[in-house]
Amino acid sequence: MRRTGRKFAVEAADAITIRLPPSELYGPAIMKNLVLASALLLAPVSMAAAGQTATIQPVVAATMPAPVVAPSSGSGTANAAPKSGPKAAPKQAPSMKLVEPHLRVARSDIKGHARVALTFDACMGKADERILSVLVAERIPATIFVTARWLKHNPQALQVMLANPDLFELENHGQNHIPAVDKPVSIYGIASAGSPEAVRLEVQGGADAMLASGIPAPRWFRGSTAKYDLSAIAQIRAMGYRIAGYSVNGDGGSLLGAAITEKRISSARDGDVVISHINQPTHAAGEGVAKAILDLKARGTQFVRLQDVEDSGDDDTTE
Ligand SMILES: [Zn+2]
Repeated sequence: MRRTGRKFAVEAADAITIRLPPSELYGPAIMKNLVLASALLLAPVSMAAAGQTATIQPVVAATMPAPVVAPSSGSGTANAAPKSGPKAAPKQAPSMKLVEPHLRVARSDIKGHARVALTFDACMGKADERILSVLVAERIPATIFVTARWLKHNPQALQVMLANPDLFELENHGQNHIPAVDKPVSIYGIASAGSPEAVRLEVQGGADAMLASGIPAPRWFRGSTAKYDLSAIAQIRAMGYRIAGYSVNGDGGSLLGAAITEKRISSARDGDVVISHINQPTHAAGEGVAKAILDLKARGTQFVRLQDVEDSGDDDTTE
């Protein structure tokens, strides 16, 4: 998959982290933006190599003016790219409010057997066999959010998932991995759907592709970037879906290193919903995901899929 869009994300969970795409994907413009960001933050920002991160300590983050579209602490699914060429995303309206909803599952309340829902996004690109093989070999259930685009290019991985219906719940990640926001806005440099009709097409197109691939009708939707505006949430709910937030950002859009990814996911507690990615086999993060799954299993974790347990999401995503 050719990714021609410029992409970077700012994360404020542990520190402000500027993540850079492979160097061939950013040009002078993004470098200029980073330099400007550095100046704004009054702190040095070291430029990271592809797939690595540059970090600014949180004390600096406090000096940041609140952006209109917050690069929120979650930034769960920066793993994204525009559908085609470098298309300038429109400027967002000043009143735009985006949310990145949380989701948790009912706790087991059994000491030593924390209940954790592993969720993986298959945005586009390929299948990460490091993760898929561990899930199958260890018989660990998970919920996979697939796009129509990913399905089209990964029939073998899909067959593995369909052949293990006791393990894999497949849910809707949209048709073209376009953020499900019904007003024109740029998120991580990706243009949103931009209208209610485009949101509908993104959601319905994802579901149609799933049914055509032999997957049962999806009940959950998670949009590209995991961000929405409230009216899009209401629209998607009216289409019959629950909307899947998360409570642990496992891999920072698949752009974190292996060790920090392993640490984040391994720290999941009773009732957590972990988001990470299963579509980036060349990224270091996937190695950390695979290790963390084994860590959690060794700790007696009770793995669940979203369809198997009670849940609660905020921002009216599940009520
Ligand atoms: Zn995605």
